[in-house]
Amino acid sequence: MPDDPFAAMLRPLLRARERQGLWRQREIRESPTGPWVRVDGQTLLSFSSNDYLGLANDPRVHEAFCAGARRYGVGAGAAHLLGGHTRVHHELEEQLADFVGSPKALLFSTGYMANLALITTLATRHTLVWEDRRNHASLLDAVRLAQAQRRRYRDLAGLRDALEGAAPGGLIATDGVFSMDGDMADIPGLIALAADHGAGVIVDDAHAFGVVGPGGRGSAAAQGLAFMPRLVHMGTLGKAFGVFGAFVAASAEVVAALIQIGRPYIYTTALPPAVAAAAQASLAIIRAEEHRRTALRQRIEEFRAGAQAVGLTVLPSCTPIQAVVMGDAHAALRASEFLRRQGLLVLAVRPPTVPVGAARLRVALSAAHSADDVARLLASLETYTKDRL
Ligand SMILES: *Cc1c(COP(=O)(O)O)cnc(C)c1O
Repeated sequence: MPDDPFAAMLRPLLRARERQGLWRQREIRESPTGPWVRVDGQTLLSFSSNDYLGLANDPRVHEAFCAGARRYGVGAGAAHLLGGHTRVHHELEEQLADFVGSPKALLFSTGYMANLALITTLATRHTLVWEDRRNHASLLDAVRLAQAQRRRYRDLAGLRDALEGAAPGGLIATDGVFSMDGDMADIPGLIALAADHGAGVIVDDAHAFGVVGPGGRGSAAAQGLAFMPRLVHMGTLGKAFGVFGAFVAASAEVVAALIQIGRPYIYTTALPPAVAAAAQASLAIIRAEEHRRTALRQRIEEFRAGAQAVGLTVLPSCTPIQAVVMGDAHAALRASEFLRRQGLLVLAVRPPTVPVGAARLRVALSAAHSADDVARLLASLETYTKDRL
């Protein structure tokens, strides 16, 4: 009998990952997130942060965080239902509901948990959950936890065909902005199918709130939709908000059910109140400072125009997520390593996160990037492409 049962089990799996170019590493950052970061002793121009509006290091957000900690302490001390729910959490929920235009909003500690709570609350073992095949892992894992039945669809036409043969009802879940490709789901199209079929729709807008739509109100608003009870929004506070945590914006009934039976809501410590205070400051900035979205749009246009001129394969996307497809995992890794030697931090995304053969550089743009930052990235990408010819 081996005296280390874990090593015996894990070694083959770890070796296989390494061989396939899929080994993942954590690098140690010693600066705030932002366009310029210090990583492993090197200063790099970074295109790898989800801080799309440059709020994570905004002095007003810092100050709100510190003031929140002074007023409420650092930790919430308990779960929301057991004394952990403070005035600052409650106010933030009201502000988020107002922002999205929904009757209610409910805070969660992470987006991963919000998705687990949503699907375990809105689906039973008998529910068919229709998922876009590019959905975030948390939406996929949630269906397993709910012991519901998952069906994956490729596009709207595929979903329409699949729904035709299925019993009425069920749940359609989609990312609002797909996190690895950067394009937006056709939410009006999904809503129309859902309405015909008596189904509900969950939109995971982790990459959209703050960034797309009028006033940054997300991917449904970007496509002209106002709140409707059939549509449940999930948003995160750790990306464009530059903070941490998540929320669900929905009808009063959905929010009540999450509070009553959503186990990933009930059985966990509330978000630190200071984090909720910081998120309030962030939300106020998101609402007031349209110039951040304008700057971000300019950087996106500059990058797309430049990448096209260099002859790169960039997937269609009008969001800060720009995917430059390189081919296999090794090719994506080589490109990322080349850029790194040029002082640029751009992450390679490899299978199983993206399909085999579609490994890519994932360029994440921010309102905090300058036109020069984008020009520098494009110049390095051009050098890399030319060297490879
Ligand atoms: C980041 C992300 C999540 C998870 O949110 P966290 O708050 O980081 O747990 C969920 N869905 C999508 C699409 C995401 O990009």
